Amino acid sequence: MSPTMRERHCPICGEDYFGKMTECPVCEVPLVEDFFAEAPEEEMQRFVPVGRALNEMEIALIKSQFDALGIRYYLLGENASRMVPLPMSVKIMVHEEDLPEAEEIIREWGFT
Ligand SMILES: [Zn+2]
Repeated sequence: MSPTMRERHCPICGEDYFGKMTECPVCEVPLVEDFFAEAPEEEMQRFVPVGRALNEMEIALIKSQFDALGIRYYLLGENASRMVPLPMSVKIMVHEEDLPEAEEIIREWGFT
């Protein structure tokens, strides 16, 4: 398992990207990191939904906050469609062990 390649995907069109890409060139939104790509099924089931981000600004906020605190999370794209890129909403999934911290941030920022 190589730790050098990071895999990301676009939350809107679902396209997969590798390497240093951080933004989908088609949809112009930040890519979602698939850091759990190699995680076993049991580990995936420990992620629980904590809220929703409704636009790229909220997604960016969530990412910066969660990254800063080391919260394990991923964003589950919803309404993914090439035809209707906006509005989009993504479900924010966090590791159950990081849930209390994550909920605090969600409350603070007023995400639902
Ligand atoms: Zn895209």
